[in-house]
Amino acid sequence: MALDPAPRVVVLGAGFAGLRAVRRLGHARVATLWVDARNYHCFLPLLYQVATAGLEPQDIAYPARSILRRLPVVDFQLARVVGADPGAQRLRTTTGEHIPYSHLIVATGGAAEDFGIPGARDATFRLYDLEDARALRNHVLRICECATTEVRATERAALLTFVIVGGGATGVETAGALAEFRRHVVPRDYRAFEASAMRIVLVEAGPELLPPFPPVLRARARRDLEAFGVEVRTGTRVSRITPVGVELAGGAHIPTHTAIWAAGIRAAPVAADLGFPTGRSGRLLVEPTLQIPGQPRVFAAGDVALVAGQERLPQVAQVAIQQGEHAAENVLRVLRGEGLLDFQYRDKGALATIGRSRAVAAIRGLEFAGRPAWWVWLVIHLVMLIGFRNRLVVLVNWAWNYFTYDRGLRAIVGAEHETSEDGEQARAAGGPG
Ligand SMILES: Cc1cc2nc3c(=O)[nH]c(=O)nc-3n(C[C@H](O)[C@H](O)[C@H](O)COP(=O)(O)OP(=O)(O)OC[C@H]3O[C@@H](n4cnc5c(N)ncnc54)[C@H](O)[C@@H]3O)c2cc1C
Repeated sequence: MALDPAPRVVVLGAGFAGLRAVRRLGHARVATLWVDARNYHCFLPLLYQVATAGLEPQDIAYPARSILRRLPVVDFQLARVVGADPGAQRLRTTTGEHIPYSHLIVATGGAAEDFGIPGARDATFRLYDLEDARALRNHVLRICECATTEVRATERAALLTFVIVGGGATGVETAGALAEFRRHVVPRDYRAFEASAMRIVLVEAGPELLPPFPPVLRARARRDLEAFGVEVRTGTRVSRITPVGVELAGGAHIPTHTAIWAAGIRAAPVAADLGFPTGRSGRLLVEPTLQIPGQPRVFAAGDVALVAGQERLPQVAQVAIQQGEHAAENVLRVLRGEGLLDFQYRDKGALATIGRSRAVAAIRGLEFAGRPAWWVWLVIHLVMLIGFRNRLVVLVNWAWNYFTYDRGLRAIVGAEHETSEDGEQARAAGGPG
């Protein structure tokens, strides 16, 4: 059947779901506009490595326009969308411009869920984009610099305490990477203090780490982290966070200038402004076909979508990739006048790395840990990275880190981090700001 004569599909979001949708539509030669507030696709699973000086920001980002070189029917527009007029089939951007669409795929991803905990939003570092990762890395490096000259023991201890809130994959991986930093970088770079003075605390409200993993692997991840010197506190709720400490329910207080929030996910804010129905955590409610109810030409995919009957699907890259592909496939079916297909997730397994040669993997019924899981983790992440240059650079970096026990460039960069009359120390104490 012939395609609709002049469709103009808009894909909103250049993450895993948007990228996959755009590729599918581009290969089907359907005129498509790809819109994102940033001009690159970011490989979020490796953000924590940027934050801990293992990789550079550009190693995990790939320009959207480079992706489109082989897809001439797809164009890109850099724009932050702030609303929509579903009746008129158009999006609205920060500049007041309208972007019309014949069909729309919303793939705007997630943002941190703070559960209303005081300070969770303003007094923590989070990891949702390259800016976040860069800010955290600068902060960690600056904190270490400050600790070298701090003579007050209690203040030095607070400077060198890092609290990660949330025992999912991001929290576990970040805690493990900080432990590696402590083990391999601190003794060489910061001789003014003992590496053991650096304290890493991982706080999780639930009874165990890595809830989606089988119990054996959850226990293994915990053991590995503890062997790395990470204090793991499960069943512990955070009640308040300030720039100088983390308060736990029950009254305990951990003095720190570094709280990293990895505790929850909700839909990116724009989802609430599009005029479509939303459900738990502000996510867009969609039918099993990924269509927005009552909007036969609008689909949602990835972290932003809450699929009817599949509400328990995890917000992970594989789900986003498969939903992006599926949403694009269903758009093509709408254009051809064919019936739509329901989304069905094919679970390819779960992986999390704890550090050098330590990871846990649950893949196709197999549960394994340690070095084999770590190798699988390395290979899968390399394969999933976009762009040959990025793959090569990341491979070289990892090989360098592995054989030299060193980390990447540890320069504090960015205008807000230049030394001013206020002094570095005062800035460090200010936390994320
Ligand atoms: C730190 C971290 C580590 C993770 N680790 C893993 C892991 O190890 N394994 C795994 O499977 N998953 C992991 N995930 C989850 C995985 O990255 C997400 O499930 C996946 O990125 C979701 O893809 P998406 O396309 O829905 O959204 P995203 O990849 O978040 O992309 C959303 C896009 O929408 C754009 N956007 C948002 N709002 C607007 C707007 N108003 N206007 C224009 N553009 C907008 C954003 O700029 C972004 O490019 C991790 C996530 C994070 C944050």
